[in-house]
Amino acid sequence: MSERFVERMRDESVRYDTKLMADFAAIYCGAKHKDRARSPITSDASALGVYGNRVPRMCEECAAHIRYAEKRRAFCPKDPKPFCAHCDTHCYKREESEWQREMMRYAGPRSVFHGYAIPGIKHALEAMKWKREMARREAEGPTATKDNAAR
Ligand code: SF4
Ligand SMILES: [Zn+2]
Repeated sequence: MSERFVERMRDESVRYDTKLMADFAAIYCGAKHKDRARSPITSDASALGVYGNRVPRMCEECAAHIRYAEKRRAFCPKDPKPFCAHCDTHCYKREESEWQREMMRYAGPRSVFHGYAIPGIKHALEAMKWKREMARREAEGPTATKDNAAR
């Protein structure tokens, strides 16, 4: 584990986002991978105590995605950070990005029923905002998309 990762994980918002992401992954995994063995995730963030006493449980495949996502969140250059799905400078590998979209699309709305009322509502509002923004860009044509990407 790098010193930079340890340093970044001291930031409260990085810790919060990392924990939220893993908790969402546990909701997704609990529903989609019922038939698999699931256990508390072992990762660098987990070793640093980011997940506290209630370490999110998931299968090995989901855990591998979260280990990847922990690094991306820790080294995210955006401040304030948008939802990754709405980010103009997406830093994820394509397959990781696809997994995260699928996972968030499933777990985001359902998180409200797992004790995450505020993040769940925030996720729904962000998703609506993003859809409106996409519709606006489409209506304005390719120039709008390019301008936005350059921001
Ligand atoms: S996708 Fe964007 S917001 Fe998400 S970690 Fe990468 S740079 Fe940050
Ligand atoms: Zn899983």
